[in-house]
Amino acid sequence: MTNAPTSVRVERSRDTARGISTSLDANGIRGKLTPSAPLAPLVWFKSGGTAEWLFEPKDVADLQAFLADLDPAVPVMALGLGSNLIVRDGGVSGVVVRLGKAFAKVSKSADLTLDCGAGASGILVSSTARDNGIAGLEFLRSIPGTVGGGLRMNAGAYGRERSEEHTSELQSR
Ligand SMILES: Cc1cc2nc3c(=O)[nH]c(=O)nc-3n(C[C@H](O)[C@H](O)[C@H](O)COP(=O)(O)OP(=O)(O)OC[C@H]3O[C@@H](n4cnc5c(N)ncnc54)[C@H](O)[C@@H]3O)c2cc1C
Repeated sequence: MTNAPTSVRVERSRDTARGISTSLDANGIRGKLTPSAPLAPLVWFKSGGTAEWLFEPKDVADLQAFLADLDPAVPVMALGLGSNLIVRDGGVSGVVVRLGKAFAKVSKSADLTLDCGAGASGILVSSTARDNGIAGLEFLRSIPGTVGGGLRMNAGAYGRERSEEHTSELQSR
């Protein structure tokens, strides 16, 4: 069994792209914080540069605590499956947040209602809907991506799109 660090401090001397000096002092996080993390392995097209920091939160509370402590001047970008992203070779300034297993769950919470983690895949949402007799989410099987990315992009196929579904049938968090 390993103990998670109670404090992580990462400093970068100068972000030349943005012309600012940034540091990140994250206390008590339980997830994984990686400096200069290659993003190519994490995105669909397997190309592009690094994230200045990559944060993979342990759970919702971990993400909330991290964001509450973060200097508002540090840019934050969410990353799903990266199927609608081209990462520039120069990389991404600030923090890229990638949601892991704790955010990838889907369950039925009421009739015609699925409780979906923002990191859950569209395929899992579609399959869970099918298994619980909920129709109308079949189209998600054909779109590579997560719930969060799909809502952000209003992903759609076969004449259906996310904006039609999530208010009535999905709760994303
Ligand atoms: C082969 C292929 C087929 C595709 N077919 C379709 C299609 O039929 N229909 C269609 O609409 N699209 C399609 N796409 C595009 C892509 O799959 C969708 O846009 C998908 O919804 C992106 O989801 P993602 O999780 O990969 O998001 P990403 O590509 O990781 O991110 C996309 C945007 O969403 C933001 N984001 C990601 N996660 C979150 C979050 N949790 N909270 C807030 N913002 C977030 C990101 O910051 C970024 O701005 C296709 C792409 C590929 C490669």
